[in-house]
Amino acid sequence: MPDHILSGIKAIVAVNLRKKGKLQKEIAEYLNMDRSIVSHYLHGRHPSKRVIRVSEEIIKLPVNNAIKIINSLSDDRDITSKIIKELYNAKIQVDPDRCILCGGCLECPHGAIYKDSNYRINIDHNKCKLCGNCISTCQTDALILKALPNKLEE
Ligand code: SF4
Ligand code: SF4
Repeated sequence: MPDHILSGIKAIVAVNLRKKGKLQKEIAEYLNMDRSIVSHYLHGRHPSKRVIRVSEEIIKLPVNNAIKIINSLSDDRDITSKIIKELYNAKIQVDPDRCILCGGCLECPHGAIYKDSNYRINIDHNKCKLCGNCISTCQTDALILKALPNKLEE
């Protein structure tokens, strides 16, 4: 079942990319999938409507919850990052009231987290890939993926 739900979420992303004019080949490359499966997505042949409905409910969740679910479904932070980037207009933010400066998040695989001159945690949004690694790492829930309006609603 987790694979089906992930397929449903990928199908939503694929349709979204198609609406933006991306070619089937480009969508397949972006989602690291076989073109024939992308073709099924775009023609509504796979996955089932029920799976799509469940997937739609997941992506309506607050993005902080959605990223954790999608990460656990995919077990692949690169794919999670691509899905989140495509579906949400989101940025990682630090809640200074919750941050205890433990430094755990500085292990960001993309070098996007640093301590500034005031020893506060900061995010370089140009480097951040929205992989969600820091959110899972932070023990105090000080890192929040904050969504601006959902791209699907634009
Ligand atoms: S892991 Fe969380 S508490 Fe620790 S430094 Fe990073 S944001 Fe602060
Ligand atoms: S979401 Fe990933 S890339 Fe962005 S700051 Fe957190 S760990 Fe780094």
